[in-house]
Amino acid sequence: MSLGEFDLIARIRARVQQRGDVVLGIGDDAALLQPPSGRQLVVTADTLNDGVHFPGETAPADVGWKALAVNLSDLAAMGAEPAWCTLSLSLPEADSAWTDAFLDGFLELARQHDIALIGGDTTRGPLSISVTAMGFIEPGRALRRDAAQVGDEIWVSGTLGDAAAALAQLGGHGDAALRVRLDRPTPRVEVGRALIGIANAAVDISDGLLADLGHICERSGVGAEIEMTSLPASPALQQAFETAQRWSFQAAGGDDYELCFTAPPSHRDELLRVCESIGVAATRIGRIVRGSGIVALDADSRAWQALRQGFDHFSR
Ligand code: ADP
Ligand code: MG
Repeated sequence: MSLGEFDLIARIRARVQQRGDVVLGIGDDAALLQPPSGRQLVVTADTLNDGVHFPGETAPADVGWKALAVNLSDLAAMGAEPAWCTLSLSLPEADSAWTDAFLDGFLELARQHDIALIGGDTTRGPLSISVTAMGFIEPGRALRRDAAQVGDEIWVSGTLGDAAAALAQLGGHGDAALRVRLDRPTPRVEVGRALIGIANAAVDISDGLLADLGHICERSGVGAEIEMTSLPASPALQQAFETAQRWSFQAAGGDDYELCFTAPPSHRDELLRVCESIGVAATRIGRIVRGSGIVALDADSRAWQALRQGFDHFSR
């Protein structure tokens, strides 16, 4: 069924859950929000374009999930607590079935993290979804890219490479366990919160480990050494791909939305303890060193050459 813009907005409004700090949500010219005193506001935005950030065949509920997940992942990488988000939808037509299914995925994840949808915009155009997410952080406590120290150990949450492997399997007989990591990434919000005071620097892995760890190195003025043999892989990935291909997915494939973070060796035990209590694996993959750039060592401690660096929209 095709509806008008205002019917679509009314449909969205009817389904959102509110929070006590939303003074005025969807329905006016702008939202009114009451940030808690003594906290800093953390703001991030990310857009998903049809065919670029998700395969055209992706179920609308998965698109909804992912649109919010990639933003929650950025809040997680700062150590922030999610609070509010906006949703700007560009749709080829005002399709209520598509929008309802999209909201199923979007609002399911929103409920899990108690983040309220407080406004947005609805326009006609090529399918594209823009979300802005806002959260809170204790002043001076954010996990920044520019705070890695020489001697820090480098860690990642969860496992790497599944999403890139699923992308490589598109069109063929895909593995469902890999595909779900591409379609429904898990933002590591709890891990990010728990790492405050433990980790020095953090980034979420959206463009590939080497690319995103590269951002930490650049911003912190340090280098990194990682061991390819220590990169965590899911059972599904280990089963489906040989080492060389697997390493390239794990080190250079995007869309994992795990956290990569650095912490002093003296924090190792506490770090492992908090991640275990959350139920998310943390794996030590290398160390921060003097200099610049990343050296990835293979099983024989020789430099491993990536087949392809992380994803960059404007490079070819
Ligand atoms: P205006 O023309 O003043 O910008 P709109 O008609 O675009 O107002 O929006 C009306 C209300 O609906 C606003 O509160 C806006 O934030 C909200 N809104 C519009 N589109 C969306 C959407 N896709 N998701 C959530 N809220 C939306
Ligand atoms: Mg508007």
